[in-house]
Amino acid sequence: FVEIRHAQKSFGTVEVLKDISLTVERGQIVGIIGSSGSGKSTLLRAINDLDPLTGGEVWLDGVQVNQKLPHRQYEKHINQMRQQVGMVFQHFNLFPHMTARENVTMAPMMLHGLSKEEADKLAEEQLDHVGLLERIDYYPSQLSGGQKQRVAIARALAMKPKLMLFDEATSALDPELVEEVNQVMRKLAQEQMTMIIVTHEMDFAASVCDRVLFMDQGVVVEEGPPEILFKNPTKDRTRAFLRKHL
Ligand code: ATP
Ligand code: MG
Repeated sequence: FVEIRHAQKSFGTVEVLKDISLTVERGQIVGIIGSSGSGKSTLLRAINDLDPLTGGEVWLDGVQVNQKLPHRQYEKHINQMRQQVGMVFQHFNLFPHMTARENVTMAPMMLHGLSKEEADKLAEEQLDHVGLLERIDYYPSQLSGGQKQRVAIARALAMKPKLMLFDEATSALDPELVEEVNQVMRKLAQEQMTMIIVTHEMDFAASVCDRVLFMDQGVVVEEGPPEILFKNPTKDRTRAFLRKHL
C-alpha cells in the first residue's frame, strides 16, 4: 500500500537516508524509533515529497508519489497525493486566527468543494471523534496542547486520508496531556487506519504498532513486531538504544 524503494537522501554531501526500503500494508501501523538525527523525520517527509528524495521511489496505493514531471503537472499530481496523506507534527500547526471548526472545514471546502453546511457537519463529526465537540468554536490559543493536537488530527481526518503520518505528535506536550492524544491514535488504529508513527514513547509504540523499525544514521538497523524487537533485539545498536530508552 505504501512502498518506499531504495530511498536515498543527501543534504549537500551529507547522506541522511541510505537505501531504505519499507512496505506498509493497508491498515498496518508501523512505528519508527531511533536517536535524534537518525533520519526519521526526513523519511516521513519524503513520503509526501515535502523533502524530496535524491534517490529511490515512494509509492502510495499504486501511484508513484515522487514522479519526475514538468512543473505544472507535478504541482497538480503532488497536491492530489498530499490530499490523501494526513500529517501531524510535533508542533501544532493550526491556523491561529481560525477556530477549531474553521481549521477543520477549510481544506474540505477549498479542496473537496464541500458546502459550508457539509463542511460544518464534517467538522462536528471529526471533532466529536477526537472528543472536542464542545470546543468547536474555540481558537487555538484557548485550547491546551493536547486539545490543539487533537484538533490537528481531526483536521487531517476531515480530508479522509488513506494514510496518516505522525511525527512525534506528543513530544511537545506536558506529560499529563500525552495520553489523550495517544487515545485518539489508538482509536484510529482500531478503525484500521494505515499509520506511520515516529515516536520516542516505546510503551506506546509497543502497544499500538504492528511493526517497529529502529533507525540509526540513515539506515533501518532492525525491524520487527514490537514484542520481538523490544524483547529480543538482535543488533548491538538496537540493544544500546533500547537500554537508554526503555
Ligand atoms: P529527531 O529525533 O531529532 O527529530 P530525526 O531522526 O527526525 O531526529 P532528521 O530530522 O530526519 O532526524 O534529520 C536527519 C539528519 O538530516 C540530521 O543530521 C539533520 O541535521 C539533517 N537534516 C535534516 N534536514 C536538513 C536540511 N534541511 N538541511 C541539511 N541537513 C538536514
Ligand atoms: Mg524528527
